[in-house]
Amino acid sequence: MKHCPRCGTDKPLAAFSKAARYKDGRQPRCKDCVRAYREANRERIVAQQRQRYQDNREQINAQRREQYTGERRDRILAQNLASRERHREQIAAHQRAYAAEHREERAAYGRQYREANQEHCREASRRYRQANREALIARSRRYQAERQAASLQTADPDRQGQEWTGPEVGIAADTGLQTGEVATELGRTYYAVRSARSRYQLEVQRRRREAAPAAPDYPERTPAP
Ligand SMILES: [Zn+2]
Repeated sequence: MKHCPRCGTDKPLAAFSKAARYKDGRQPRCKDCVRAYREANRERIVAQQRQRYQDNREQINAQRREQYTGERRDRILAQNLASRERHREQIAAHQRAYAAEHREERAAYGRQYREANQEHCREASRRYRQANREALIARSRRYQAERQAASLQTADPDRQGQEWTGPEVGIAADTGLQTGEVATELGRTYYAVRSARSRYQLEVQRRRREAAPAAPDYPERTPAP
């Protein structure tokens, strides 16, 4: 038994944490008292630790690097893994909340990264599409079928099989609108809008070709004198 001066109780030795720097190899105060103290002074302790780290950064990091080897390293890795396993749901919820809160920021960062690493991103995306070809096609089909089913709810039956009017094509040609949005707007089905858009694209390409015939990609031969 050992006496804790804090709570004034006698407790078995196991109720005191090990601490080599004390004569009996145990902390003077019992675990409950230490825990209560830490909880009551949490912010102050965290601030102190942060300050101590800032002041002795180099030394602390060097020490940690030195100690982080062999069995100790394995033990720490195993502990971290077990902790992540134990708090799996909590961590997932935290990550979801963080992602929702920083959506814009993350999107901006992604754009910036892709801009700065265009080659790498193009290659990575090509490899990804190649490796997941089947799944991506299936997902796209599922998505389109869902959009089509949704558009059937808002489609105007009188429009079925009707020619597209100029104003309708104008709305369909607006690249700022998604296909589903155009469908709702016009009372057409998703598939009808999709093919109207593709017809419109082909028409634009055809006109562009006619207006400016492609220049030959070889120098024109100068007639022999
Ligand atoms: Zn105590």
